[in-house]
Amino acid sequence: MHSISTSYIDGTFVPVRGTERLPIISPTTENVLGMVTLANREDAVLAIDAAARAQRSFARSSKAQRIDLLRALQAAVLRSADNIRDSAIEEYGGAYSRTQWVSQYVSQCFANAVQTLEDYPLTRTIGAARVSMEPVGVAALIVPWNSVAGTVCSKLASAIAAGCTAVIKPSELSPVQTQVITEALHSAGLPDGLFNVLLGRGRDVGDELSTNPKVAKISFTGSTPTGKLIARAGLDSLKRVSLSLTGKCASILLEDADLASAIPLIVNAAFMNNGQACVAGSRLLVPSQRAAEVIAAVKAFVDTLVVGDPWRPDTSLGPLASAAQFDRVQRFIRQGLEQGARLVAGGAGRPDGIDRGYFVKPTVFSEVKSSVAIAQEEIFGPVLSIMTYDCEEQAVEIANDTIYGLQAYIFGNDHDRANRMACELEAGTVLINRAAPELLAPFGGVKQSGIGREFGVSGLEAFLEAKSVVSG
Ligand code: NAD
Repeated sequence: MHSISTSYIDGTFVPVRGTERLPIISPTTENVLGMVTLANREDAVLAIDAAARAQRSFARSSKAQRIDLLRALQAAVLRSADNIRDSAIEEYGGAYSRTQWVSQYVSQCFANAVQTLEDYPLTRTIGAARVSMEPVGVAALIVPWNSVAGTVCSKLASAIAAGCTAVIKPSELSPVQTQVITEALHSAGLPDGLFNVLLGRGRDVGDELSTNPKVAKISFTGSTPTGKLIARAGLDSLKRVSLSLTGKCASILLEDADLASAIPLIVNAAFMNNGQACVAGSRLLVPSQRAAEVIAAVKAFVDTLVVGDPWRPDTSLGPLASAAQFDRVQRFIRQGLEQGARLVAGGAGRPDGIDRGYFVKPTVFSEVKSSVAIAQEEIFGPVLSIMTYDCEEQAVEIANDTIYGLQAYIFGNDHDRANRMACELEAGTVLINRAAPELLAPFGGVKQSGIGREFGVSGLEAFLEAKSVVSG
């Protein structure tokens, strides 16, 4: 049984001052895995103060010193890869194959930050000015429950590369994963206060991070409504705010697409991370004349997916993360049926043979109108909506018919057409004939999917500010 009641402040695990206790529930068995005591606003102030003290000297660190720290962090999380993977399976229900990938990705985040920083000029001359890229100051890194270790490490890597100290607030729904990743980061032996970690509610710990004047920067990943709250709360002290938010991504299948290669990528993009991914391609747009063939191919592929024990390497989808997530996805499936969509695969309830855990059936709807809830709202579960289009312009129009704009996918053999279409899509990233991102390229959303970019140079610059010194 887990018993978690510490925050990580100033290089030490210290008992939290907060008193709210929550059970940690296994999404696979619904059994209690342990208890967590949440930090409160007072803990948040202590963490911010520690980061602010450390910021004074860290702001003057050299590129070489930061690279050494990033390499130490990279090695530390790599040493803990198995624990990081296992905690995500146990607490979150992440499928083994996915969590194994994440457990390697976390060290890649630090390696990428090293590579980016090595090539990045922190000072340059522009006319008569000497321009130096200075750390913006103490950064609050606020993280969602669907991607704990990955988001913590990618944000922390950019912050450290820039010379910013950090207060990290993962979701209160992920204490075990937070404990494991924090222990791994601690083992890197960084100077005290450089990064601090605490779990707490958004309304107190999150709000303190968003309003405390010692915090200069907020890097937030989570839902669009919370992102708006944070942006408003940070306004008084003019915090620099980066927001990576909700998605409702489209996959566009072109007329000449090869279904044998495209369908597995499309379904995997839709159902990745058990469907709980901001970049899930949850809307599939197909040419009308190929609809029947595509629907049959999607159904055949979905029927091969294995839903069940996330510890088994051959499992495609584990459970959803919580009872609330299970209820939410069931509600959307019922809505899909009520609003006239045709069920192609899956449906309401647990998969056959499973009577415990937050497992849902991978579900596919066809004949979905773009205006209905399942086509407009982020479901955050394995539910794919298939829609048809008659011409390229209509495909783009449907893909863009959402308030979000995080990522889009195009599958087809005509590369000119795919690239032409990519220019028309309102999305921060367009992936053509692939579902894997380029981790050094800018990542983020347009419209209500966010403000700012993460990864690579853009991710680094999100924690920097230019200072110009001009001599007469
Ligand atoms: P959420 O917005 O509910 O919570 C995210 C984090 O914000 C949590 O740590 C939470 O405690 C904190 N928080 C809540 N209220 C706060 C407040 N008032 N002030 C400060 N912090 C507060 O999101 P979630 O349910 O944890 O995550 C799922 C959402 O995240 C989905 O919408 C998903 O699309 C999005 N997401 C986006 C990306 C991306 O890169 N664009 C990646 C992963 C998840």
